[in-house]
Amino acid sequence: MTERFDLVVLGGGPGGYAAALYGAAAGLRVALVEEQRVGGTCLHRGCIPAKELLQTAEVLRTVTGAARFGVVVEPPTLDLAVALERQQQVVDRLTKGLETLLRGREVTVFPQRGVVADAAAHRVRLDDGTEVEGRGLVLATGSAPRAFPGLAFDGVRVLSSDHVLRLGEVPARTVIIGGGAIGCEFASYLADVGSRVTVLEALPGILPGVDPEAAAIVGRLFKRRRITVHTGASVEGATTGEDGVVVRATVDAAPLEVEADVVVVSIGRTPRTAGIGLEGSGVVVDPRGHIEVDAAMRTAVPRVYAVGDVVDSPALAHVAFAEAMVAVRDLLGEDPQPIDYGRVPWGIYCHPEVAFCGLTEEAARAAGHEVVTSVHRFAGNSRAQIMQEADGLVKVVATAGGVLLGVHIVGPWATEQLGAGYLAVNWEATVADLAPLVQPHPTLGELFGESVLALTGRALHG
Ligand code: FAD
Repeated sequence: MTERFDLVVLGGGPGGYAAALYGAAAGLRVALVEEQRVGGTCLHRGCIPAKELLQTAEVLRTVTGAARFGVVVEPPTLDLAVALERQQQVVDRLTKGLETLLRGREVTVFPQRGVVADAAAHRVRLDDGTEVEGRGLVLATGSAPRAFPGLAFDGVRVLSSDHVLRLGEVPARTVIIGGGAIGCEFASYLADVGSRVTVLEALPGILPGVDPEAAAIVGRLFKRRRITVHTGASVEGATTGEDGVVVRATVDAAPLEVEADVVVVSIGRTPRTAGIGLEGSGVVVDPRGHIEVDAAMRTAVPRVYAVGDVVDSPALAHVAFAEAMVAVRDLLGEDPQPIDYGRVPWGIYCHPEVAFCGLTEEAARAAGHEVVTSVHRFAGNSRAQIMQEADGLVKVVATAGGVLLGVHIVGPWATEQLGAGYLAVNWEATVADLAPLVQPHPTLGELFGESVLALTGRALHG
C-alpha cells in the first residue's frame, strides 16, 4: 500500500522534525518516519541529557562552594540515581511536547524504520511493507558515535557518549580520547562529580576551532580542577581487563600509559547513510559517508534533500533546524537564503562555558582582513564578581573599519550571553552602530558592550 503526502521525512531528530514542523506550518501534508521516539540524538542521547547532567554538576559545585556566600550546608553528596531520574523526566517532558506539537500540526508519524525505495519518486518503504510517497523527500537519518579503530564500544570499559549519559556510577578514573566540545563537556561533568579525568587530544590544543585565547582559559581552569590534559597525544590503542583499561599513547615522542576504570571515546560521529537505500538511488554519498548537497540542501536527485548530521556541515542541532527550513523553502519554490556556516553560533557547556560566532582573530587575518581586537575579562565585571565566577573573557574581532567579524566568550553563562554578539556579527553591525547602545547594569552582558566600546578608543571600565 502506498500513502501519499506532500513531504516525506526520513528520521525524526532535529533535522527531520524541524522539516516536518516547518513544512506542516506552511500547509504541507507531512509524513515523518522515525524508528525510535521522535527527538533524535539531540533529545535522547546528546544535547539535552548531556546539558542536564552538566546542570547537576553545576548545582553540586554551587552547593560545595556555598560556604563562601555564608550559606553553611553539610558536605553535599551526589545521588546519581536521582540525577538520572530527573534527566529522564526532562527528556520525557520535552519528547511529549514535541509529539504534541507534531500532532497539533497534523504530521503523520510512522514509528518504524524506513529505507528509500525509490528516490526519484520520493518513496520510502517502512518495515511493515507500507510505502509513503511525497512530492519531496528530506533525508535526516543523523549520525552515530564513531569508534576508535580496534577498540569496539562495550558499554563497560569502552564507552561512547550514549553510555556516558547513562552511567549509573561515577568511575574513579576516566580517560577521554578527544578534547573537542563533547569530550570537554564530559571531562567537566565527570570531574565535577568526582572522577579523576585525563583527556588525550591529538591536536596541539583542546577545543579545536575555538579562539586559542578562549581555549587556553578552559585548559587553565581544567588544570585547576585536576583534569589532566595531554595535547599532541597520539592514541595507539587500549587494553581492557577485569580491573579496568590501560590506554596507550605517544605524547611528544614519549610513550604514555594511562590506567583508568573506563575510556570514553569522543572522536566525532559517523553519518548514518549506510543501509538506508541510497546505493544506486542517484543520491551521492562522499567517501566519509556524508550526503552531498548544494546550498539549498538539494541532493543530486530532484526534490530529494538532506539535512543535519548526514551532511558535511557543523554537527549542531540548530544548524539541522536551519537546514531543514532551507530545504522546505526550496521545495516550496521560495528561493531560500543559504546558511552562512561561518557565522552560526557555537556553544560548549563545560565549566567554564564557551560560546562564539564568526571569525577568530587568526582566521580573520588569514582571510586578509586588517584586524582589531578588544579583550575584556570577567574579573572586571561586577555581576561575575557577585556570582564568584570571574574567570574568562569576551573577545571582539573587528575589521580596522569597525565591522564586527567575530565574538568569542568564555566564562559564566557564555552560551546565554552570545545572543547580542551573534546578532551583531550576522547583521554586520559596526562598532559605531553598537557603541551607543546601553547595557543593563549589573549584568554579565555588559562585558560585550564594554569590549565594543573600547574599540572606539574610549573605554569606560576597561
Ligand atoms: P539525529 O539527531 O541523529 O536524528 C536522526 C534520527 O533519525 C534518529 O532519531 C534516528 O533514530 C532516525 N533514523 C535513522 N535512520 C532511520 C531509519 N532508517 N528509519 C527511521 N528512522 C531513522 N548539538 C547542539 O547544537 N548543541 C549541543 O549542546 C549538542 N550537544 C551534544 C552532545 C552530545 C553528547 C552529542 C552526541 C551531540 C550533541 N549535539 C549538540 C549534536 C546534535 O545532537 C546533532 O547535531 C543533532 O542531533 C543532529 O540532528 P539530526 O536530525 O541530523 O540527527
